[in-house]
Amino acid sequence: MKWKIDREKCIKCGACVGVCPVMSLELKDEGIVNDLKKCIFCGVCEKVCPVGAIKVER
Ligand code: SF4
Ligand code: SF4
Repeated sequence: MKWKIDREKCIKCGACVGVCPVMSLELKDEGIVNDLKKCIFCGVCEKVCPVGAIKVER
């Protein structure tokens, strides 16, 4: 399973942070950071991202 973010595309809107069911996402100065120890690869963040910056493979 993989979780990837394209920081060039990300507009730092924070939408993904708000929908993650396990609160593994955080918006930092450098962009979105995912705590992969918590992530369950559900793909909700990928669906909600308005610019398609997140890709989840499971
Ligand atoms: S795939 Fe699911 S659990 Fe993982 S960061 Fe995205 S919303 Fe959170
Ligand atoms: S939803 Fe997409 S554009 Fe918005 S902060 Fe998350 S990764 Fe970035």
